[in-house]
Amino acid sequence: MSELKNFEVKGKDKIKLKTFPHSPDKSVEKEKIIKRTQENLAKMERFQDKLYSEGKEGLVLIFQAMDAAGKDSTIKNVMSGLNPQGIDVYSFKVPNSEEIAHDFLWRASKRFPTRGKMAIFNRSYYEDVLVAKVHKLYESSPLPNRCKQGDVIGRRYKDIKNFEDYEYNNGYRIIKFFLNVSKDEQKKRFLERIDLQVKNWKFSSSDVKERAYWDDYMEAYESAINATATKNSPWYIIPADKKWYARYLVSEAIIEAFKKIKPEYPELGEFAKENLLHDRKLLIDEMNAKED
Ligand code: ATP
Ligand code: MG
Repeated sequence: MSELKNFEVKGKDKIKLKTFPHSPDKSVEKEKIIKRTQENLAKMERFQDKLYSEGKEGLVLIFQAMDAAGKDSTIKNVMSGLNPQGIDVYSFKVPNSEEIAHDFLWRASKRFPTRGKMAIFNRSYYEDVLVAKVHKLYESSPLPNRCKQGDVIGRRYKDIKNFEDYEYNNGYRIIKFFLNVSKDEQKKRFLERIDLQVKNWKFSSSDVKERAYWDDYMEAYESAINATATKNSPWYIIPADKKWYARYLVSEAIIEAFKKIKPEYPELGEFAKENLLHDRKLLIDEMNAKED
C-alpha cells in the first residue's frame, strides 16, 4: 500500500488535523524519494498527453495552505512534469469588485478547463470557508441579511460539496491539497524572507498578522476538510515541513487521479483508419517520386 493513503481523506471518518504529521517518518530516505518524484513527473507527462488526446475528462488540482507552506514551489515542481499547453494555473486573491458582486463559486467555475485539460488553483473557493470564517468576512459582504444569518459557513460547505459533485458528474475530477506546514517551520521561513535579501519580496507583514490566528485557521481547515472530503473529491493533508517530501506526495496523488481516469489514446474507426493508410501511401509515393 502506498504511503499516500496515510494522508488521504475521503470523508468516511472525521479527521483531527493534530494527528497528521508535518514531516516524513525518520525511515523515509530523501534520495529515494527525490528519484521517485522524478519518475512520477515523467509518468504524469505521459498521462497528460493521453488525457488531452482523449478530451473526455478534466482534472483540477486545488492547493490550500497557510502562508509560506510552499504552494508556489510545489506548483512549480508539478508544472515541470507537464505540458504547459494542457494546463493553466490561477491564483485566487482577495476578490475584486466584479468577483465580490457575484456568488462565491463564480470566479472559480469560470476557470474550469475544457475537458482534456488540467487546471491548478493556487487558493480557491475554499478561501470563502477559511479566511471568511476566521474573520467573519460575510458580515460585511454586499449580501441580503438572510444570507448572513444562521450557519453561513455550514451552507457554504454544502454548496461546495454540491458544486464538486456537479463537476464530477460533468466529467471533472477535483483533488484538494492542504500543505500542512507547522507553526515553527512557518516562523523559520518568515525569518528567512526577512533576513535574505533575495527573499525579501516574498515577505508581507500581513502574513505575520494572519499567523496570530493560527489556531482559528487550523479549526477552519479541519472542519472544511471534514465537510467536503468525498471519495470522488478527496483531500490530501500533505506534511509540508520538508519540501522534497511534499512534492513527492503531491506527485503520487496526481498519478493516483490519472490512474482512476485511465486516459487512453483514442482508437480510430475503420473509415479513419483507411484514410490514414491512404495518406500514408501518398507520402511514400511522393518520397519514391523524388528518389527516381
Ligand atoms: P504568496 O504570498 O506566496 O505570494 P498568496 O496565495 O498568499 O501567495 P497573496 O496575494 O499574498 O497570495 O494572498 C492572497 C490573499 O487573498 C490571501 O490572504 C487570501 O486569504 C486572500 N483571499 C483569497 N480569496 C479570498 C476570498 N474569497 N475572500 C477573502 N480573501 C481571499
Ligand atoms: Mg501571501
